[in-house]
Amino acid sequence: MSSKCRIAECTKSPRYGGLCDMHRKRIALHGDPNGVAWSVAERRDRVRITRRMADRGCTATQIARVVGVSERTVYRYLAAAEPRTP
Ligand SMILES: [Zn+2]
Repeated sequence: MSSKCRIAECTKSPRYGGLCDMHRKRIALHGDPNGVAWSVAERRDRVRITRRMADRGCTATQIARVVGVSERTVYRYLAAAEPRTP
């Protein structure tokens, strides 16, 4: 068993399928392990993903798991989200 994530140059410990948590989330969200630089991701990126998932009907629990924040933070992100213009 490998002790490193199977993504090149990633030194994090793998969790499932030989991928670390971060890359698993990236693939789940974008289908691309390098879709988002989570290490430098800004809050607004997580807010945007939270809103997009909420629009798709995802539950706060699912969003929290993917975005990597608590459910309470998901609700805070959604509450802070600006109203969309039609
Ligand atoms: Zn990784």
